[in-house]
Parts: sequence; C-alpha cells; structure tokens
Amino acid sequence: MKYFSLSNNSYQVSFKEALFSGLAPDGGLYFPSKVKPLKKSFLNNLKNLSKSEIAYHVISQFVGDEIDKNKLIEIIDHSINFDFPLKHLNENISVLELFHGPTMAFKDVGARFTSRCISYLNKLEKKVTVLVATSGDTGAAVASGFHGVDGIDVFILYPKDKISKIQEKQISTYSGNIFPVKVEGTFDDCQKMVKAALVDNELVKKFNFTSANSINISRWIPQMLYYFFAYMQTEKRKDDVSFSIPSGNYGNLFSCLLSRKLGLPIKNIISANNINNPVEKYILTGKYKPQPSKRTLSNAMDVGSPSNFVRVKELFESNLDRIRQVMYGYSFSDSETAEAIKELIDKYKYTCDPHGAIGYLGAKKHLINNPQSQIIFLETAHHSKFHEETKSFINQEFEMPIQLKNIIGKESNSVGVNDFNEFREYVKLTAS
Ligand SMILES: *Cc1c(COP(=O)(O)O)cnc(C)c1O
Repeated sequence: MKYFSLSNNSYQVSFKEALFSGLAPDGGLYFPSKVKPLKKSFLNNLKNLSKSEIAYHVISQFVGDEIDKNKLIEIIDHSINFDFPLKHLNENISVLELFHGPTMAFKDVGARFTSRCISYLNKLEKKVTVLVATSGDTGAAVASGFHGVDGIDVFILYPKDKISKIQEKQISTYSGNIFPVKVEGTFDDCQKMVKAALVDNELVKKFNFTSANSINISRWIPQMLYYFFAYMQTEKRKDDVSFSIPSGNYGNLFSCLLSRKLGLPIKNIISANNINNPVEKYILTGKYKPQPSKRTLSNAMDVGSPSNFVRVKELFESNLDRIRQVMYGYSFSDSETAEAIKELIDKYKYTCDPHGAIGYLGAKKHLINNPQSQIIFLETAHHSKFHEETKSFINQEFEMPIQLKNIIGKESNSVGVNDFNEFREYVKLTAS
C-alpha cells in the first residue's frame, strides 16, 4: 500500500515510511492511495470467523507486503488480545466496550500495533527513539504498548499537575525503555518540545527519532476492527446499524468511515462532541472554523482543531452533500453529560465514563428522527479512570479494576524539566 500526502497528492511513500515519519515533509497527513472493498462473501461470513481472521483480512491491504503474513498476524493478535464486548441497553441502543485493554481506554490497540510495527520494520542497527507529547490517555497507552519492546526507547512528555493521578501513574511507573518526563507547562509546551527536538541538529544526528503521535497511520489502521467486531456481535436488523462516536481528534471516527468504505454496512455515523464542536458546525453550516479548546468533563475530547478532520473530508472528496448523507453531528454540555451518566445508572444499571456518556447522548438524539435505527455507541474508557471528575454526582461504590489497582501503589519515576534545554540534556544523557 502506498500513502500520499494530503498537501501534495503526487508525493507517495511506503507503509514503512509513513509509519516512521508520521507527517509528510510538507506537513501533510498521509492517506491511503487506494481502498479496495472487501469481498461480499467475507462480509456475510463474519459470524463464522475468528477475531484474528477478521483482523488480518481487514488490515492486510493497508500494510501490503512490507510485513510478511505470519509476522503481521502475530502483531495483530497481540494488539487485540482482549475483549470488545457489545452490550444491549434497550431495543435500539447498544454499547461497544473498548476499555478492556491494559490501560483501559481504546487507544491501547493503536499503541500496541504501532510499537510492534516499528520494532519489526526497523532494520537499522541503531535504536529508535520515540518522542510523544500527551495530555493523558495517549501517554498511558504508549507507555504500556511500547514497554519492553525491542530496539525502542520512548520519551513521554506530559504537563505537570494537568493530567489525572491515575493517568500519571499509568505513564510514570514503568522503567526500562520508558522515560516519563514531567514538563513545567501545558500540553502545548510538551508538543513544542517534541517538535523542537525533531529539528535539533545535534540530537537528530545522534538519535534515530520518530514520533508515534495520534496522526500516525498505524494508530487508525487497527481501529477499523472495532466496527467489524461490533457488527459480528449484532443480532437483528443488520441493515440499519449506525455508530455514535465520542470524538476529539477524529482518529476513531475516521476508522469507522474507512470500515464503511471497505463494505461494512453502516448506515449513519454520529460525531458526538462536548462543547468543542467545530465538526458539528461544519456539517450544519458548511463552514469549518477551528477554535481554541475549552476544558470539559470529557477532557480527552477537548480538541478545538481536530487533526484527522482533513482525512474525514478527503474520504468524501470534501463534498458536503455526501458528508451529510452519512454523518450527523451533535454536541452536549457538561451538565447534560452528568445527567446522562446518572440516567444510564438509574435506567440500565450501566456506569459510563463522561466520553461514553456523550456517545450515548448522540445515540439518543439521533433516534428522535430515526426511531427505527440500531445505534451502537462507543464506551472509550473505563469509568474508574474518570472517578475524580464524576464522583461528585455518581453515588456508588465500585471495585477498582485490576489493571488500575496494580499501578496505584507504585512509585512514579518521572524526571521534571523546566524548558527545552533541560529536556535536550536529559535526552542526550539517557537515550542510547
Ligand atoms: C482519545 C479519546 C477519545 C477521542 O478519540 P479521537 O480518536 O481522538 O476522536 C475519546 N474518548 C477517550 C476516552 C479518549 O481517550
């Protein structure tokens, strides 16, 4: 498979190059040059296939012959070695749980796939040094997904005192090849440090840098599987299945659109947002205006300028009418989110985190005008990860899941840095 840059369609690279460079030299995001729909016989037979068989079929064309079949199957199987259960709440609404991985948010699948692909394809003698800036869940998934992977060092930069306690533990209690860095500043400052390192002459000469950030192709490729796994678990009225996707950077929603392009019979795709909602406004008005992000309860979706939106538009060749035939956008306030969490507990005894609650609200709103629809919303993180944010209005005891219990008592070992120079010195001293 070749990937082209969305800033210059004639610039094409291999899977490996798109994986290692993240962005094209002109700053464009990489996009698959050709998406070949899957065979009807395969799609009709999903129920009789294993997760692993489905996954290989879906993913293989996006990697091509750059990773041989057995190795690719091994990488995929490792990336999805937990459950993706679909639970029915009522006649019309179901929830797909994407939090059964090691860090209990959906980003585990992408991080596990990315780390193994990088490790396998790096044929150089030299180690790869991965730099990532995170505002929370990405860093946790990357720390867990890359821990102990051969030939890779990872520096994870996060803003001091601006991520949750649990997230900080998830990033900073590993040792070995994971180097957590606590930055005096904001998430934007972390991102600036990563960018500065990637163009620093001395560092670039010494190290073989790559940045496994959320725009990397290897993050959204395996996420297509969620929609196939959901579909194989649906029972009735398969012709009218829609997904409600709590969205921030639109990686997950882009994966859903791609799985539809591969032939999965998905009717509508609901872009569910908190008050950071430039995509909803675009669908309504045709005008796209990125905005500074505003802080909300569902903070993994506090994105005012979603980086994968250009990919979403490209799939429709920027044709607004075609977008409107498939996509619907709805957004919700924090108080609506809190009410939804309480309603889910009262009505269905189902505890949702704030991100999933927005997916649920999107599903409910869509049903008003489409009462026959079967809507699956995504629960993108386990509710206990957001206990601090929700405990004021959820009055119930719960058992902390084992994945989180295991890290809470561990010591953090992150190193604090105040500015880029300190970070630079730290990398020089530490990376091998
Ligand atoms: C990252 C994240 C999202 C948003 O996903 P995108 O692919 O960036 O749209 C939603 N929920 C949770 C819990 C997340 O960590």
